[in-house]
Amino acid sequence: MNKYKLLIIICFFLLTLTLPKVTATVKNLNLIGKVIVLDAGHGGKDDGAVNSKIIERELNLILVKKLEKELVSQGAIVYLTREDENDLSTTTVNRKRSDLYNRAKYIDKISPDMYISIHLNSSSSPSWRGLQIFYTSKNEKNKLIAETITNHLKEKMSNIREIKKDNTYYMYKHISSPGILIEAGFISNPSDNYLLRNEEYQDKLIISISEGIEKYFKNN
Ligand SMILES: [Zn+2]
Repeated sequence: MNKYKLLIIICFFLLTLTLPKVTATVKNLNLIGKVIVLDAGHGGKDDGAVNSKIIERELNLILVKKLEKELVSQGAIVYLTREDENDLSTTTVNRKRSDLYNRAKYIDKISPDMYISIHLNSSSSPSWRGLQIFYTSKNEKNKLIAETITNHLKEKMSNIREIKKDNTYYMYKHISSPGILIEAGFISNPSDNYLLRNEEYQDKLIISISEGIEKYFKNN
């Protein structure tokens, strides 16, 4: 072997040592085949809860898109009721009711394994804080979904409130598919408001919600 060939072989060997290790990150795909509809609350002319730092309509969509990404990475098939700032209303009179009715219709047309609505809460009392999951008794699976995700969130996060049944919401009364409403926090509370705007907190919250969803489907 001549000197050059040997040099080339040595160089090649050294090069392979310095190459970054390719580590295959195989996701668990715990949600493969599951169909999930994500519903970002409000939109269009309806801002939802607002204060000087947060417009609910905007933040709901940011959280929904993060959750979409996470669920898709676990193999789920995800639909969004809205993908931009517009709402779903088709009338100018009773705009809000039309929006909510169309969301309910959209969800039931897809007939998903689960729907998740994301909203932000607000109260005249700034001391109220925390995430809370609401469910209706319209679908018998709703309570267990609410419980499973809440219990998981309690393990991972602080300030998680107890689940609450509420059969009074116009939209949810019209949805037969299983699902829940997440009020992700109170924008009227300074601490919640700060956290909800913090991207690191948002990511932790979304991953924890996704894990809660995976837990539900693992056993149901
Ligand atoms: Zn809302």
